[in-house]
Amino acid sequence: MTPIYSEQQQELASQIDGNTSLKNWKDWRWQLKHSIRDIRTIERLLNVQFEPEERKTLENTVKKFPLSVTPYYLSLIDREDFRNDPVFKQCTPNPNELIIGAHDMADPLHEEADSPAPGITHRYPDRVLFHISNVCSMYCRHCTRKRKVGDQEFIPNRETIEAGLEYIRTTPQVRDVLLSGGDPLMLSDEYLDWVLSELDTIEHVEVVRIGTRMPVVLPYRITTDLVNMLKTHQPLWINTHFNHPREITASSREALRMLADGGFPLGNQTVLLAGVNDCPRIIRVLVHKLVQNRVRPYYLYQCDLSEGLTHFRTPVSKGIEIIESLIGHTSGFAVPTYVIDAPGGGGKIPVMPNYLISWSTHKVILRNYEGVITSYQEPESYQSVFCDRNCDDCRLTLKLDDADEYQSIGIEKLLSYDDDAISLVPADNERHQRREDAAE
Ligand SMILES: *Cc1c(COP(=O)(O)O)cnc(C)c1O
Repeated sequence: MTPIYSEQQQELASQIDGNTSLKNWKDWRWQLKHSIRDIRTIERLLNVQFEPEERKTLENTVKKFPLSVTPYYLSLIDREDFRNDPVFKQCTPNPNELIIGAHDMADPLHEEADSPAPGITHRYPDRVLFHISNVCSMYCRHCTRKRKVGDQEFIPNRETIEAGLEYIRTTPQVRDVLLSGGDPLMLSDEYLDWVLSELDTIEHVEVVRIGTRMPVVLPYRITTDLVNMLKTHQPLWINTHFNHPREITASSREALRMLADGGFPLGNQTVLLAGVNDCPRIIRVLVHKLVQNRVRPYYLYQCDLSEGLTHFRTPVSKGIEIIESLIGHTSGFAVPTYVIDAPGGGGKIPVMPNYLISWSTHKVILRNYEGVITSYQEPESYQSVFCDRNCDDCRLTLKLDDADEYQSIGIEKLLSYDDDAISLVPADNERHQRREDAAE
């Protein structure tokens, strides 16, 4: 395969390391070793000069929220118009990061409160996040775990990982393990192979997922050796994080091709960011490029309420506008689910434009993406199946192991026939607290 370099990359490579060859440029360890971590180097390599005042503010920002960017990712910046460049905005500090908004939180998703074992966040019934690396090859300025970036640069040792594995091993409801971080692909192939092999031995773990930004910020990490190792741990799903069409380069296409050919279903999680991708046209081009490269757009995230992200936040209406411009207008599999990760640890909540306009006992009134208003006739008779979760007596003959242990939660509980619950009430509801107090 002929290596792919732009002129800017050749220039950068020799600026960073006069003795380097272009072969090194494609070596992911060389890229990591030469990651840029200070403002002066950014200026030198981008051939720009900040005013002394601005440089000082930027350096102060870096003191609070560290900087790290791979030469590869830096090479994607359009130097002529760097201030408006989506790559520049994602990897270099902005003084606005120091403005902490009234509603910002260090840990808005309460990941620490939902952590029953080292590195584990167990929020949903059947799946866990497993943070197996505390490092990233590029520090996204919009990181939701910004509070942690750069302050604990280490790969958790085997004992720590063992403790997380032990939790998974002894928690049979976990059928899906999401390896996250940091970036799990910062681990060596051998170390990752060990973690994945341990997970393979746990019978109730049905699927493993890896969340990584490597195809975006350091595509050379996707090597034949890595893919061959990962192939021995199927079923494995891989999710990446492209935010802008400019990030889909020849090198990242090659990385995606290798992963797709390796047989891993690929997904993408985009964060909606003001000044970067808060535009229906940009997102549409992005999702089209993704599906061309066999990546299914999975989530579009509303920006979290983490400290230092205020300048990146858009109103929720922008996300709805974007989804409105996709549904019906383009392939269904190119449309991500727009989600808000509930502050306080409520998990991801999908948000959509409204298509259901009205409803009677006979008809449902809907509108389509063109604005056509239509009606759907409800069935005249529908015999609903009484369900007490006893599948043996069911005429649907749907046999599910463990169905009798099934416990419904949330809205599903209210819809269920075999649960007496008539309402769901928050634990700190004052009205209910007064009732209880009165009853005592
Ligand atoms: C996002 C997330 C998951 C995975 O959620 P899916 O909707 O299944 O992709 C699991 N655990 C935590 C804590 C998460 O934030």
